[in-house]
Amino acid sequence: MKIVLENLTKKFPSRNKKQPEDVIAVNNFTFEIPDGKLIGLLGPSGCGKSTTLNLISGLQMPTSGKIFFGEDEVTHLPPENRGVGLVFQNYALYPHLTVRGNIMFPMENLKGKDKLTKEEMEARVQKVASLVQIDQLLDRKPSEMSGGQQQRVAIARALVKMPRVLLLDEPLSNLDARLRLQTREEIRKIQRETGITTVFVTHDQEEAMSISDMIVVMKDGVVQQIGKPQEVYDDPVNLFVAKFLGTPPINCFDGEVKGGKLLIGGAAVLDVPGVKDQKVHVGVRPEGFILDDNGPLACDFGAVEVMGRDITVVSGHASATVAQIRSIISAENRVDPQGGKVRFALKSYKTHLFDWNTEERIRFSAR
Ligand code: ADP
Ligand code: MG
Repeated sequence: MKIVLENLTKKFPSRNKKQPEDVIAVNNFTFEIPDGKLIGLLGPSGCGKSTTLNLISGLQMPTSGKIFFGEDEVTHLPPENRGVGLVFQNYALYPHLTVRGNIMFPMENLKGKDKLTKEEMEARVQKVASLVQIDQLLDRKPSEMSGGQQQRVAIARALVKMPRVLLLDEPLSNLDARLRLQTREEIRKIQRETGITTVFVTHDQEEAMSISDMIVVMKDGVVQQIGKPQEVYDDPVNLFVAKFLGTPPINCFDGEVKGGKLLIGGAAVLDVPGVKDQKVHVGVRPEGFILDDNGPLACDFGAVEVMGRDITVVSGHASATVAQIRSIISAENRVDPQGGKVRFALKSYKTHLFDWNTEERIRFSAR
């Protein structure tokens, strides 16, 4: 089922006497989440991700704007009437109940036509438990399970009422690195199998990029960009988005455009046809550097880190705004610094310019 957010805004009264203005946690959010897709809601802490999710679930009411599930407006429906499954960072299981009891719990309160028999409930528990691969653990208590297993129980509990929408708020943050990787793949698999429209909140760009059909990048309550992960990575609309996506991060420089050429530290490093003369922020993706003894960008050589197929050249430059420039190049290259300098040419489609003041992207036609 598609979800439509229409000019959704949530303001909180300020508790800070020095700054009496309201906090705008979500600012005029408009987006149609397509049916059956997994959307990654991404941004730094405090940007309004949880508030957005709480508005969709009905745990909070918007200050203005509307929410539709399919064609039905749900803006003022209480959460229990929306058909949403919720999963939070802290699994919030009942410690005194077994896994079976925990998963069963949401079904036991169903009333009227939704009421299920004991057999129906047991069948559903079995089904979701095997979906998240905890069917061997149904008689355990939460304290007898690992964090990853507990989170699976929480996911099973969210799925058991067959929700129309699954909402996950940083569900992997309490897991260790390896388990986080594994569990995110499983969430993706379960989402594909069930086809439930899902919103996945995270501050971890890699996590969002790896499992989402589309990502929504937020900052200070405002949506910055929406698109397929690769599209947003390749074509960021502003400096914030460019910096937020990618590991290692984009390499930033202070630059200047003069006569259709991009200058970094006075050296013409790239043709940027059609861009008028101005000061700019420059971002170069790690994979945007070409090792070239005659390359125009001369950097101070630091180190080479071998990663197998690729190597990372670590270097510095007086105009760089990052302490270390990290360039990823094929391991077939020989790095041979001359006089302490390593020289690069830049790939135009991996080099982005941003307005000095607004930090909005300045586009140029790549040759
Ligand atoms: P995120 O989940 O992206 O970290 P939140 O949605 O939790 O961000 O918060 C967004 C902003 O709204 C923050 O500035 C936060 O301090 C503020 N905020 C969230 N909930 C409340 C609340 N109940 N009362 C006042 N301010 C809140
Ligand atoms: Mg949050």
